[in-house]
Amino acid sequence: MDKATGDDAEKVIKIAGSITVDELASALGLSVTALIGGLFKNGIVATINQRLDFETAEIMIGELGIENVRLERKNTATKTSDSFRTELSDHAKSRPPVVAMMGHVDHGKTSLLDKLLDKKTAEKEAGGITQHISAYQLEHDKRKITFLDTPGHEAFAAIRQHGAMLTDIVVIVVAADDGVKPQTVEAIKFAQDANAKIIVAINKIDREGADVPRTMADLSTHGLQPEEWGGDIIMVPVSAKTGENLEKLLDSILLIADVEELKADVDIPAEGLVIESHMETGKGSVVNLLVTGGELKVGEFIQAGNTYAKIRTMLNFRGQPKGKAGPSTPVTVTGFKDLPSFGDRFIEYPDEKSARRASVLNAEAEANAMASANVTSTDLLRMMNSADNSKVFNVIVKGDVLGSVTSVVDSLKMIDTKGEVTLNIVATGVGDITENDVYMAAGDDRAVIYGFNVNVPTNIAKMAARDDVPIRNYKVIYELLDNAKESMEDLLDAEIIEEELGVMKVMGVFRTTKNEIIAGGEVTDGKVVPGALARIVHGKQAVSETEVASVQREKIEAKELIAGEVGGLALKTEKKTALEVGDKLEFFERKEVKKKL
Ligand code: GDP
Repeated sequence: MDKATGDDAEKVIKIAGSITVDELASALGLSVTALIGGLFKNGIVATINQRLDFETAEIMIGELGIENVRLERKNTATKTSDSFRTELSDHAKSRPPVVAMMGHVDHGKTSLLDKLLDKKTAEKEAGGITQHISAYQLEHDKRKITFLDTPGHEAFAAIRQHGAMLTDIVVIVVAADDGVKPQTVEAIKFAQDANAKIIVAINKIDREGADVPRTMADLSTHGLQPEEWGGDIIMVPVSAKTGENLEKLLDSILLIADVEELKADVDIPAEGLVIESHMETGKGSVVNLLVTGGELKVGEFIQAGNTYAKIRTMLNFRGQPKGKAGPSTPVTVTGFKDLPSFGDRFIEYPDEKSARRASVLNAEAEANAMASANVTSTDLLRMMNSADNSKVFNVIVKGDVLGSVTSVVDSLKMIDTKGEVTLNIVATGVGDITENDVYMAAGDDRAVIYGFNVNVPTNIAKMAARDDVPIRNYKVIYELLDNAKESMEDLLDAEIIEEELGVMKVMGVFRTTKNEIIAGGEVTDGKVVPGALARIVHGKQAVSETEVASVQREKIEAKELIAGEVGGLALKTEKKTALEVGDKLEFFERKEVKKKL
């Protein structure tokens, strides 16, 4: 941290990422106790060495009423998550491209991949939606291409948060009969953020209603200019059904791979990413890896996250044994002591001892990071909110494999609750819903149990029904997230809104008592109905509020008076209220509406 004191007018404090309580207090000329006290008042118990992030420091300065101080971010060009693509040596060899298909649901990602692999997987997937990230490899022109079968975009973004940059090329799949849809736009943004090269597959061209030029025009308004129109994006019209142009799509992928000169070193210790992991009876942990550098062999020692393995068996994506796997190769291995997490990086070590040691060091580093975790503005805002009783949504997440649990949890965390609801993840786990989950959910932190691709045994369902514990089991991540969002919205207090109905110009006031005013006039705008609320506006000022008891047209009770009509009104009042000729009555209704997130 730098301190730069200018003249008396303003003091600039530069913060690189975060600042300790001690440093901030001294920069502000405050006692540490005063700052800690201020944090405490906002629900944060901080120690002198605790680090506060930029936003928290900024909020605290405001909260403490300190003026003439400005915080500035000190630039620390942080290298982002692609730290994976380590510096290559001169003798790096070209490697197969790693490709992901992304796009709007039902636009044909799974069908395209199936057709490409000539292998039916769609039927096995619930609702045809791909659930787990897995990987496949195919050969075209005697060259390999690795495809990642991706889960929803949220989950994919979650993997990225884990520090993984998986793909070289993203194939954006758009149905020619449906055009660009919200998830298409998301996919484009994702690919751009991830620095991946983009190819567009305009799918379903066999369909009636397919309109390739319109789809291209649609895409160009979203920043993707087709090559044919002078832009730089290859767009291939294809059909997953008839197989038309799929060769061309693969040609284009290889063309991009050539232009990008994708390479990796082979003669380095093997490294890569965990892309899926689960337990299987008889086999223990079964882990899918994508090798990104070096060559992985059976019998080698690798560390990933807090665990390590001596690779016992290694299979290719078709389930055939493989002795070694080079860069861009997806493999399934057994031999891990525990389940590593989705997105964990793996590295080869020369022996068991050093692999184990690396896993222990990793665990220690993680524990330390947790212990001295920065106080972030999210924590602060959450605490401030919970001070004025913000709502808490407790959940327990169960999934069939670790990857899906991580995806669900990360995706849940990404729901923007605008600081109004705090998501509290009470517990997570791999496997079916158990008695213990129900006990936990029925406890102090009453929770909703979300299952993803798991079973709910009948006795557990009964137990949950008895204890009034909601179990919500899904096979499609979007549906789970939609439900969570709705449930959080249900927690919010309804919002009261006023809906304007109409205006009347008062032309006569016939009777005024303590409880009632009888008046007449012309509706100049909108309408008036019995039961509406009415503001009496004198000159330009609203002076009081009453309610319309009844409406009359030519002395006969009416359901409404509309603009242009003249009629009479009875207004309900609670005390004697002044209404004069020339005043305006503004009619409105007050409604409770459910707040949205
Ligand atoms: P995803 O959600 O993007 O993975 O989409 P799917 O691959 O599950 O496809 C959704 C639906 O569109 C399925 O009923 C497919 O059979 C159908 N479909 C996919 N591609 C094509 C295509 O090229 N032509 C036609 N006619 N139907 C297709």
